[in-house]
Amino acid sequence: MKTIEHFVNGSSASCESGRSQPVFNPATGEQAAEVGLASAAEVDAAVAAAKSAFEQWSTTSLAARTKLMFAFRNLVEANASEIATRLTAEHGKVHSDALGEVARGLENIEYACGLADLLKGSFNSQASSGVDVYTVRQPLGVVAGITPFNFPAMVPLWMFPNAVACGNTFVLKPSERDPSAPRLVAELFAEAGFPPGVLNVVNGDKVAVDRLLNNPDIAAVSFVGSTPIARYVYETGTAAGKRVQALGGAKNHMVVLPDADIDLAADSAVSAAYGSAGERCMAVSVVVAVGDCADALVDAIKVRIDKLRIGPGNEPDSEMGPLITREHRDRVASYVGVGAGEGATVVVDGRDATFDGDGFFLGVSLLDHVTADMSVYRDEIFGPVLCVVRADSYHQAVELMAQNPWGNGAAIFTRDGGAARQFQLDADAGMVGINVPIPVPVGYHSFGGWKNSLFGDTHMYGPEGIHFFTKAKAITARWPDPADSSVDLGFPRNR
Ligand code: NAD
Repeated sequence: MKTIEHFVNGSSASCESGRSQPVFNPATGEQAAEVGLASAAEVDAAVAAAKSAFEQWSTTSLAARTKLMFAFRNLVEANASEIATRLTAEHGKVHSDALGEVARGLENIEYACGLADLLKGSFNSQASSGVDVYTVRQPLGVVAGITPFNFPAMVPLWMFPNAVACGNTFVLKPSERDPSAPRLVAELFAEAGFPPGVLNVVNGDKVAVDRLLNNPDIAAVSFVGSTPIARYVYETGTAAGKRVQALGGAKNHMVVLPDADIDLAADSAVSAAYGSAGERCMAVSVVVAVGDCADALVDAIKVRIDKLRIGPGNEPDSEMGPLITREHRDRVASYVGVGAGEGATVVVDGRDATFDGDGFFLGVSLLDHVTADMSVYRDEIFGPVLCVVRADSYHQAVELMAQNPWGNGAAIFTRDGGAARQFQLDADAGMVGINVPIPVPVGYHSFGGWKNSLFGDTHMYGPEGIHFFTKAKAITARWPDPADSSVDLGFPRNR
């Protein structure tokens, strides 16, 4: 059985804690590997490696850092298919989707390749006579990233390229459920030529997370995961004096106005609700059908569901793969019955679908006439269950979102430019799509939600990522009067 080890100080490190857990292939239900779960001492060893690498790395020239980042970018691109294969093998998402994940991760490396421009700081000449004031941004030191199972390659790439570009060294604690892809990415990073200790990976669970949150040598923690853990990480990390950004769960609404292109809206709802088996933090989980479009929209979604091909992610015809674990699949499936019991209309029941073998498959479900008091609406299900809420008006749809505790993404489908513009102002969410169901910002903007979708005030990657991983220093400098110079400059004072 393959064992997935830590990656510390540029090489593999076996797990000595005596604790481990299985990693499954969700398409077969079989164990694919075993992953060690770090002890606090093993976390400390990774932090120590990062700390000793910091002094040299933080003073490495921008030119040298840029060159390494380009090399890393090229290696990730060259190995995209292998990374995607690992993603499919342990997460279950279909290969094309896995390749998309790598592509979105690459965007973040490419952004970090511009580090010289990103770290320019700012300058005022002659703030007072002979006085210049300028601000530089310096690295924080050793920083940590804690990431979820659903984007095992992309979410780490949201974090460490920018962090390292800024001169920090990094300890990554990926999800223990699918650790092979981030492990490969770390190996490629070392192969690119980054010095040992600049990026370290420790596999683990709560024990490792807790130690990262309390280790005094960790300056900042970047977290992505579910809301309860995001809140915990934020509260614990900040109480220990660390800078923390903690992105949480979501319940993303897609509002469809009566004038929308129903085919476009239905195509978008199906791909955004069921793609990656609904295990995306930007998945559409609620369609809000406004006015009289609801019947046509539900029919159009149902027609598309009937054609959806569910199967192993490594089969080219599959459009949706299995869920991450058997327990999660069963929990998601249970919501269909709960929704029916609460009064929702089950238009498509994913539990009726049958699959060969023991993979963690579930058919997709469509629930209509869902209301805000139902648990299928209130809870993050994180699976292929799409709820349709019917609203009488645009105003009611916006109010519904405002009352929802999450605020990651929101989308509107309409042909009316005025309504779309109003929605971008009204939507109570951090990321808004206009006729775009999953508005994940490109790498040169920043990603983050509002309300229970983000604890802290800084979004992930892009300009806010650079801000998060650096601290500002403002310098006020008084220069000698040129008249006192030993060299005769031939000019009046401070001209
Ligand atoms: P999770 O919260 O269970 O795990 C995230 C990380 O926290 C993992 O590394 C895990 O090892 C660690 N962890 C788990 N339980 C812990 C505990 N009790 N104490 C300390 N650490 C713990 O999330 P997940 O199931 O891996 O991922 C799915 C969740 O992540 C969903 O809620 C999804 O919406 C969210 N997510 C959010 C975003 C975003 O950008 N907002 C992106 C991706 C995923």
